[in-house]
Amino acid sequence: MDTYRAVEDSASRYSEKRERMIRETLVARGIGDARVLAAMGTVPREEFVPQQFQSEAYGDCPLPIGSGQTVAQPYTVAFMVEALQLKGPERVLEIGTGSGYGAAVLAHLANEVHTVERILLLAQQAQNRLVRLGYRGVHVHAADGTLGLPSCAPFDAIVVTAGAKQLPQAYHTQLAEGGRIVIPIGSNPSSQKLYRFTRQGHQLVKEDLGQFAFVPLIGKHGWPADTVS
Ligand code: SAM
Repeated sequence: MDTYRAVEDSASRYSEKRERMIRETLVARGIGDARVLAAMGTVPREEFVPQQFQSEAYGDCPLPIGSGQTVAQPYTVAFMVEALQLKGPERVLEIGTGSGYGAAVLAHLANEVHTVERILLLAQQAQNRLVRLGYRGVHVHAADGTLGLPSCAPFDAIVVTAGAKQLPQAYHTQLAEGGRIVIPIGSNPSSQKLYRFTRQGHQLVKEDLGQFAFVPLIGKHGWPADTVS
């Protein structure tokens, strides 16, 4: 088989796996937002994981991405993104770029995406990957995301993909009126409840979205750097 045919075959195999993931994982587990399902059905998750894990890219499990970090399982990504209630014109802040997969999904659902990663190597790799895949509208920042991203605020939606001890004040300050924050919070660094906060005037209305497990959010207003997940 020539190289061109082999590449086409593997692309179509991944696209079948992606369709199966939509039906058998996401829809079956209750994801109902058609725009979220379309975004998850478009982003090639295999491109965001190391080569040795590509064949597992559409299983519903987190996968290692290097530097001791993981890309979250597809259901968790879809659940969090759905909880942001995006309609299209929003400016979104993601804390915890990791592989860049979540940012790519967000790019299909909002107008402008800023994503912050504290590990410089992961931020650089995600930036290169997103550019190579054509996601030029995603802005990757290497910084401590517990401070938010004041230079680009306000945001209509903020999603945090690592587990916080408490809600960092900066997210409240940098959230636009009516905006939503989706964030895992827990007193244990490896087990959290996911919450949605909606800004109504100076208040934040808090909703409990259930139990999840994330790597710790490390930084000035998060866990110390020597925290083990
Ligand atoms: N959204 C990512 C993806 O699609 O691959 C998954 C992210 S992984 C579950 C959580 C990420 O949060 C890790 O890459 C970790 O380095 C990052 N992180 C932890 N604390 C952070 C902080 N204070 N600021 C920015 N990123 C942080």
